[in-house]
Amino acid sequence: DYKSRVTVVGSGNWGSVAAKLIASNTPKLNSFHEEVRMWVFEETLQCGEKLTDVINRTNENVKYLPGIKLGKNVIADPDLENAVKDANMLVFVTPHQFMEGICKRLVGKVRGDAEAISLIKGMEVKMEGPCMISTLISEQLGINCSVLMGANIANEIAVEKFSEATVGYRDKREIAEQWVRLFSTPYFVVTPVQDVEGVELCGTLKNVVAIAAGFVDGLDMGNNTKAAIMRIGLREMIAFSKLLFSSVRDSTFFESCGVADVITTCLGGRNRKVADAFAKNGGKRSFDELEAEMLQGQKLQGVSTAREVYEVLSHRGWLELFPLFATVHEICVGRLPPSAIVEHSEQKPKLP
Ligand code: NAD
Ligand code: 13P
Repeated sequence: DYKSRVTVVGSGNWGSVAAKLIASNTPKLNSFHEEVRMWVFEETLQCGEKLTDVINRTNENVKYLPGIKLGKNVIADPDLENAVKDANMLVFVTPHQFMEGICKRLVGKVRGDAEAISLIKGMEVKMEGPCMISTLISEQLGINCSVLMGANIANEIAVEKFSEATVGYRDKREIAEQWVRLFSTPYFVVTPVQDVEGVELCGTLKNVVAIAAGFVDGLDMGNNTKAAIMRIGLREMIAFSKLLFSSVRDSTFFESCGVADVITTCLGGRNRKVADAFAKNGGKRSFDELEAEMLQGQKLQGVSTAREVYEVLSHRGWLELFPLFATVHEICVGRLPPSAIVEHSEQKPKLP
């Protein structure tokens, strides 16, 4: 069978939109089977029906992307192994904290010739140091893994408003072009760059900056302060990425995955929204509680990423170099008040 088969692993807010984008393209591309399989973490809805049954009956993810038709060729599948077994193109898009468990379940279950792409913004921290999610996928499953990141608030792309994205690839340009073809639409313009680590670190670290921006909003500090926090955040993103991987390119930060994603997430993202509420409550209600109340099952990535970044900074003796990243974590865990975001970030960092 010369035709490619695509499976999307994950079906949250962005996962569902990714499936919709891909499903709008596969019928037009000769080298792909039309069907797009989507693994769904099964749950029973309040009405008593299973989420997969509702998706397959109505063609809508009524819990994570209500009101949007995914395309009749999207098939929801609650069985992870079954969902991946025939696919040679695997799209990973779950909250990052679930990926270690998912990868363990997939060892030996995916095709040997499969190519993967990760849309997941986050990282793992192990004894040996930080591990990007694309590396986790690649090492655990023995397959190549590219990434797709960008200024991509899912609900806006779902209603087909124009946006851009960045594919980061390691060395195979033709594979990157295959992913670009699979995702591109007139309203979703994708550019490939040969810098997996840079693209993935942009997507991961901007969520920490978005938490900081949300604190500034919650404290009513105004636009200049917020812009300053975004600038300092971007500067820490660049410095941190380059300290971890000397291969990271400056130009990557000017792609959609870099400065554009910082802007959109700090203006309209979920991390910003919940951090705003956290600061308004003076840090008295936890992020877990606010997330559960405000996001209806959707998950934040910024709070756990701030902790993971903090672990790396403290292990390596870099805490003083990254006052904004460090302070975000200390505020999230209640060691500092939300107002510390400005006091601590404005200290001139001793960056190399
Ligand atoms: P989401 O936050 O909307 O939904 C949470 C998902 O996690 C649901 O599909 C739920 O079924 C699933 N889940 C819950 N418990 C689970 C478990 N134990 N094991 C496995 N899955 C479980 O998800 P999302 O928005 O699709 O986010 C996925 C990734 O995409 C994240 O890394 C996020 O940063 C990134 N992203 C999101 C957006 C966006 O606008 N939503 C945009 C770009 C990138
Ligand atoms: P939030 O998870 O903060 O909503 O950010 C979404 C995103 O990654 C936009 O590119």
